[in-house]
Amino acid sequence: MTRILPVSGPEDPAIAEAAGLLRAGGLVAFPTETVYGLGADGLNPKAVARIYAAKGRPATNPVILHVADAASAQALVSRWSPEAQMLAERFWPGPLTLVLPASDTVPSIVRAGGPSVALRCPAHPVALALIRATGRPLAAPSANRSQHLSPTLAQHVASSLGEAVDLILDGGPTEAGLESTILDLSSGRPCVLRPGPIPPADLEVLVGPVDLWTGAVQAGDRQAAPGMAERHYAPRARLQLVAPGSGLRETLGETSGSVAYVALGTLPPLPPGVRGILLPLDADMVGARLYALLHELDDAGCERIFMERPPEDEAWLAVRDRLRRASAKERP
Ligand code: AMP
Ligand code: MG
Repeated sequence: MTRILPVSGPEDPAIAEAAGLLRAGGLVAFPTETVYGLGADGLNPKAVARIYAAKGRPATNPVILHVADAASAQALVSRWSPEAQMLAERFWPGPLTLVLPASDTVPSIVRAGGPSVALRCPAHPVALALIRATGRPLAAPSANRSQHLSPTLAQHVASSLGEAVDLILDGGPTEAGLESTILDLSSGRPCVLRPGPIPPADLEVLVGPVDLWTGAVQAGDRQAAPGMAERHYAPRARLQLVAPGSGLRETLGETSGSVAYVALGTLPPLPPGVRGILLPLDADMVGARLYALLHELDDAGCERIFMERPPEDEAWLAVRDRLRRASAKERP
């Protein structure tokens, strides 16, 4: 059985033990304010290689380095721009990842062979204490098998990665529930590569207009415009987005097996046998709850999930992005 240690806060002795494992090249899953991360010493290529193996992550998909402060980030880049400084001052610690030109100290495997490195200072007290105790930047992608749902509970990590991880620090449910906003500052105009808890408008206040990356990378491409395989963040159940309330009986009536309907704001009357789930019409609350809900439905053996399409405004950008990927068709 994978070892899971409860951790009560930054002073917990479990953190020193975890730091020892990390310095020795081990893998430790730990809570952040977004989702659980699968941590390794970010300056040790062999340890980082274990992350790729444990996740089944393609070598073309680079990993984010987690640092304790902006000074540690500066040591990992070849140019720390005034934009990076402003954004770090305003949003770190927090769910913002900055992509910057890498310095030679960053192993090639962390960058997936590319010229840039992604950096973030997480806001969770346990994550910060662990980075400090280890004394290294921690490579830490989400602690799940590649293309599967991100973990928002220690138990999700255990069931996705099992023995592949040396230790899981259990800090309870994560708060934001969706992965960080990724902003590329490495070339030209700033570009959001992955929407997340910090909306583009909040970034634009500081750095002017930002682009929003909308493509999807093809299998085999280095994910310089990253992490963005079309299908990602997906539950086992088939997820389909539907217009609220329209033609429900027709759509749901023809399905068989175990079916759930996820409504936003109000739950419409549902055909018998369909499990109804009501989420508030609030983007942050849905973001915080989404992965845990999809995990629950998977664990309950649900085969099909119909979920109401969220509103089109910017507040829902990150939730819409994850739902689009979670409902994308599997590539053959
Ligand atoms: P996760 O598995 O949720 O931690 O995903 C990490 C994300 O950061 C992935 O989408 C990566 O492709 C992206 N990323 C990491 N490093 C870089 C980089 N150097 N340039 C662009 N994107 C990056
Ligand atoms: Mg991930």
